[in-house]
Amino acid sequence: METGLKGKTALVTAASKGIGKGIALALAKEGCNVIISSSNKANLEYAVKEIASTGAKVHAFKCDLNLKSDIQNLQNEIVALYGGADILVNNCGGPHPGFFEEIGEDKWDYAYEQVLMSPVRLIKLFLPYMKQKKWGRIINITSLSVYQPIDNLILSNTFRTGVTALAKTLSNRVASLGITVNNVAPGYVLTERIKELAENKSKVTGETAEKILEKMREEIPMQQIGKPADIANAVVFFASESSAYITGNTLHVDGGRVGSYL
Ligand code: NAD
Repeated sequence: METGLKGKTALVTAASKGIGKGIALALAKEGCNVIISSSNKANLEYAVKEIASTGAKVHAFKCDLNLKSDIQNLQNEIVALYGGADILVNNCGGPHPGFFEEIGEDKWDYAYEQVLMSPVRLIKLFLPYMKQKKWGRIINITSLSVYQPIDNLILSNTFRTGVTALAKTLSNRVASLGITVNNVAPGYVLTERIKELAENKSKVTGETAEKILEKMREEIPMQQIGKPADIANAVVFFASESSAYITGNTLHVDGGRVGSYL
């Protein structure tokens, strides 16, 4: 597939490891100039080395997505480098796990800023450049929790459906300007996040984290936990010219795990 991505500038947030890093790597391989950001400076340095080995131009900036000032500073840096970003991939750290009774207001506030407000702020800052260029791609990383609630992830269930509504509403607004807005919803992907969730569940159920991961694998029709590259391939598609007529969509990448028709 000819992606037409050579020379495009792509920002991937929360990309020092896991799914975000996988996406940055895939966009770099397609010839994008890649900017990654994360709250973890040390991991960012490792990620830059790995992504630069593709031959792509890579820049990394520390940005805690829960801090409005960090998001503004990130945009200032990118404007100074490239004028803006053609492709914005909104990824964030995973929200705190827990059932309703376990989540205090502090955690609700944190997850609201982390999951819903960070894409709102990033889109507000990067959309004017896309409008000016009459071309842009906004891709949000959500979760299978937008199709069916995951019992002990009430924060993810609540705020990721908000991101889905944001994307669809905004996609209509900018559709005639050459800008698409889509979501990629990962199923289970082998990263530190999924291991942390398994450990967290292990404390509640008494089963080992390994056993919980094994059960997750068995729930997937393909009988395999996904890799960051599986999610990245879907992001490359939404970023590419080939997806120009697709907007306001969510694609679940999950080995068949989502049980619904749509
Ligand atoms: P991960 O824990 O491997 O990586 C998370 C990344 O977010 C890291 O780079 C970390 O430094 C960064 N980060 C954390 N807090 C941050 C903050 N406040 N500001 C900026 N960066 C921050 O997680 P992952 O598995 O790659 O997940 C990425 C996203 O995809 C998460 O939102 C997660 O909930 C979602 N997701 C993951 C899975 C899965 O199975 N792994 C499934 C569905 C959805």
